[in-house]
Amino acid sequence: MIYMDHNATTPIRPAVMDKMMECGFLPLNPSSVHSNGRQSKYLIEMSRLAIAKLLHFDNNFKDYQVTFTATGTEANNLVLYNYQDADIFLSSIEHLSIFQWGKLFPNVQLIKVDRDGIVDLEDLNRKLSLSGNNKKLLSVMLANNETGVIQPLAEIAKIAKNYGAVIHSDLVQAIGKIKVDIISLGIDFATISGHKFGGPAGAAALISKSKHHLKPIIIGGGQERGLRSGTENVLAIIGLGEAAEIALVETNKYASIMGGLRSKIEQDLLQTFPNIEIVGVKANRLPNTSLLINASKAAHIQLIAFDIRGVAVSSGSACSSGKVNKSHVLSAMGYCDEQAKSAIRISLGYTNTQKDIEEFLKIYKEVYG
Ligand code: PLP
Repeated sequence: MIYMDHNATTPIRPAVMDKMMECGFLPLNPSSVHSNGRQSKYLIEMSRLAIAKLLHFDNNFKDYQVTFTATGTEANNLVLYNYQDADIFLSSIEHLSIFQWGKLFPNVQLIKVDRDGIVDLEDLNRKLSLSGNNKKLLSVMLANNETGVIQPLAEIAKIAKNYGAVIHSDLVQAIGKIKVDIISLGIDFATISGHKFGGPAGAAALISKSKHHLKPIIIGGGQERGLRSGTENVLAIIGLGEAAEIALVETNKYASIMGGLRSKIEQDLLQTFPNIEIVGVKANRLPNTSLLINASKAAHIQLIAFDIRGVAVSSGSACSSGKVNKSHVLSAMGYCDEQAKSAIRISLGYTNTQKDIEEFLKIYKEVYG
C-alpha cells in the first residue's frame, strides 16, 4: 500500500514502538505510591517535558500546564466547555471537534476566511469589536487538516489580545510538519494529538497557560491536577513523549523532504491536467498536504479506484456512516458543491519515498485518464 493519508493518522514511528514495548509489561499506574507507581509518574513527567521542548516553552515550564487527554477532540472540547459563558469566535474552517460547537451554542460566531482559506482579519476585528462580553475566546487552528493552509497566527493572536480575548489554537496538524513555538505565537491554549505525528492513538494533550483555571469535563480520582480524572494511559503517553522527541529533531528535515515530494506531484499533475486546482495554492501551506480539485469526477468514486490500485488517499469531503457530506472548509472558502465533492487530499509523511510518488503519478493518470 502507498500510504498518502498522513493527515488522517500516521503509522507509529519504529522508535516509538520500541519505547512502548520496553515499558509494555510494567504495571503502570502513576497514582500508586510503590516504586512501579513512582516510575510511571516519572515516565509521564518525561513526556510532559518532551512536549514543552517541542513547543519551545521548556524555559518557561512553570508558566504552562500540559494536561494529557485521550484525543485532540477531547482537548479541544475541554477548552470550549470552559468558555460557555464567553463570547466565542471560531474560524469557519476549524476541525469538527471545534466547529460543531457553533451549531450547539448561540454565543458562537464564525470568522470568515478568504478563497485561500486565510482568516479575514477585518471580519475578525469587526466581530471582536462588537462583543460586549468581557470574557472572550478565539479559536483558530494553526494549519488546516484538509488544505494544509497555515494561518498568520501570531498576527491573529495580537488582534484578539487587543480586545482582551483568550486564544486557543488547534495545533494537531502542524506538529511534526512545521516548527511551532507557542510563546512567540502568543497563544493561551494549544491542542496536540500523538497519532498525527508518529505516536499512538490514545494520547493527546491540552497545553494551557497556568494562569487560566479550567474546570474538568471528567470527574473522579483527580489525576492531571484534577483536570482529567481517570488512570492515565501511561503507555500511550510514553509513546507521545517519544514522538515529540523525534519531532523536535526531525521536523525540519522531513519538512524539506515532504515539500520536495509534494512539489513533484503538483508540478507533474498540473502539466498533464491543466484544469486541476490546488486549494490554497497562494497561501503558506504545510509541506506535506495537497488538496486537488479535478471536477471531472466525484472523489468518493475515485477513492475506491485508488484503493483498488493500492493507494490510500482521502477526499476533501467529510464522510460518515457511508454518506459523503460537503466539506464545511471548502464551503467557507467559496467552493461550489461540485468542486468540493471532487476534492482529493494527498497528505505525505515520513514513510513516503520518491518511488511512491512516481507510482502515485502513474496511478493518478490511470484513474483520471
Ligand atoms: N484537530 C484537527 C485539525 C484534526 O485534524 C484532528 C483529527 O483529524 C483533530 C483535531 C482530532 O484529533 P483526534 O483524532 O486526536 O481526536
